[in-house]
Amino acid sequence: MKQVDAVIVGAGFSGLYLMYRFLKANRTAVVLEQGDDVGGTWYWNRYPGARCDAESLAYSFSFSEDLEQEWSWSERYAPQPEILDYARHVADRFGLRPHIRFNSKVSSAHWDEAAGVWTVTSDQGESFVGRHCIMATGCLSVPQLPDIQGLDDFKGERYQASLWPHEGVSFSGKRVGIIGTGSSGIQSIPVIAEEADHLTVFQRTPNFSVPAKNAPLDQTWVEAFKAHYPAHRHNHRIGNGSGFGDLDIEPKGAVEDPILFSDVSEAEAHDLLEAAWQRGGARFMAAIGDTMMNQTANDFARSFIHKKIRSIVKDEATAEALCPTNHPVGTRRICVDIEYFETYNLPHVRLLDVAKDPIQQVTETGVQTASEHVALDVLVLATGFDAMTGALLNIDIRGRNDRALSDEWAAGPRSYLGLMMADFPNLWTITGPGSPSVLSNMMVSIEQHVDWVCECLDWLDEHNHQRIEADRAAQDAWVAHVQEVAEGTLFPKGGSWYLGANVPGKPRIFMPYAAGVGPYRIICDEVAQAGYRGFIVDAAEAAAS
Ligand code: FAD
Ligand code: NAP
Repeated sequence: MKQVDAVIVGAGFSGLYLMYRFLKANRTAVVLEQGDDVGGTWYWNRYPGARCDAESLAYSFSFSEDLEQEWSWSERYAPQPEILDYARHVADRFGLRPHIRFNSKVSSAHWDEAAGVWTVTSDQGESFVGRHCIMATGCLSVPQLPDIQGLDDFKGERYQASLWPHEGVSFSGKRVGIIGTGSSGIQSIPVIAEEADHLTVFQRTPNFSVPAKNAPLDQTWVEAFKAHYPAHRHNHRIGNGSGFGDLDIEPKGAVEDPILFSDVSEAEAHDLLEAAWQRGGARFMAAIGDTMMNQTANDFARSFIHKKIRSIVKDEATAEALCPTNHPVGTRRICVDIEYFETYNLPHVRLLDVAKDPIQQVTETGVQTASEHVALDVLVLATGFDAMTGALLNIDIRGRNDRALSDEWAAGPRSYLGLMMADFPNLWTITGPGSPSVLSNMMVSIEQHVDWVCECLDWLDEHNHQRIEADRAAQDAWVAHVQEVAEGTLFPKGGSWYLGANVPGKPRIFMPYAAGVGPYRIICDEVAQAGYRGFIVDAAEAAAS
């Protein structure tokens, strides 16, 4: 078995960028991917209306100036097929494909303490040996099916947003039902409604959503924006909390102090939110800087959105059912929509509030709620993911002394910086729990993690170190810090997948790091400059000598 410097699991954007960096550094690696092409999220999630919620020009790689200048995005928020094309282009342009093994689902990764290597095995029994193992398995890559009785009894067509058929689906002339009103549901509902004969939305929890104000990109504007790309990228990395883009052609200079709710009158706060609403996009949340920290500010934003929903949706009862009341704005990822609320004004679209009239079972011909049977030809499930830990725990990962990651994480994920775990030497997680990951523009977070890991590998080689892992005390302190930061925000009140709340039996731990991509990057850089503080190198050799 040929040994490589690293076995990389996953060929989404994380795996692609890792492979690029490995080739550039003349390191050897193999990427194992369960799908039959690159793209990860954008390979699997082909549901109608799927597109990014960060601006295309920001939701893209920054590592190659040529790539960012030559690639042309067509819309403010790129549609899924275009993002998938982009991933394919990256793989081809940088010669990554020969290093990727498709249709190779990893079932185990075991550390060999004596040899100092990872043996990574696919479900077809093929094994790969690497000095390092890098999990680029994605935060939102394991679909979560609802626990609804009779789901498999349905005789009509059933589709899952996150495993959408490649050949597409026709809704024409059909009675369609959709369960799930998170981002996937909210993106797909207006598009399905355009084609379906009748659409019933089974909503258990309404979500906050802001208009995308999507539009084709004006290429003159794009050229002007691209002329300032380095400064924009710099701002994404450090200039604001989430790493989302800004639409101004001229990049902002120094990081601006956010406007706090207490800095402005209610009328001014309203104007700020209105301007952000009109501008469109998730940066609505940044219009008032303490919306995620200050309950009063959050209530103000909540009431603002409620008024918007009531002004758009004509049927009063439907409008009320669409107004989220059980969680603060932003504590579940805010959705960015195209004509979502407007869709409920169409005569053939119906909202069924299953919080009030619960789904009892799926039958052969439709969905039975407590009070009625809804006959359906097609049932769409947009019911989310076993997020952040699902893909890692699906693999039998064993570190020193055969220690299972599933045991280590039985009470919730524990990681230092979201990058490494104690007693799992040379095992890395890209955008792992404990890093900003899903609270950010993921391209920013992916590049930061991959760059940091690759620079650490250089440092290990320069210092002739073979192994590195998290120090348990540093890991404990980081886990406590991640929780402390979360407690200082309103996030824990969201009851969201950020907390594992959508998966029965999953420990309720706030998993991402909520301090923002800028502060997180500074911490990671300081750790590296301090000789990788909080990491242990060559632990086994030290113990033996
Ligand atoms: P992924 O793209 O999830 O790739 C992981 C890969 O690992 C997958 O291809 C998977 O098949 C593979 N894999 C997993 N387990 C195994 C295994 N055991 N063996 C082999 N292969 C395995 N983020 C944003 O910042 N902005 C957005 O607008 C945005 N939109 C999104 C829309 C949707 C519908 C979803 C689901 C997520 C979205 N995200 C968004 C988050 C998105 O996941 C990231 O932006 C990014 O694409 C993640 O890249 P990745 O390579 O880290 O993970
Ligand atoms: P999600 O946000 O977890 O939403 C799942 C939905 O399914 C919720 O409305 C949930 O209701 C509902 N649901 C689950 N089980 C149910 C049941 N048994 N009965 C009734 N309803 C049920 O999942 P998602 O929409 O796929 O989004 C996940 C994340 O992926 C997003 O937050 C975002 O980070 C990313 N994403 C981004 C985009 C984008 O805009 N670019 C698009 C899609 C996804 P409850 O809330 O009541 O549980």
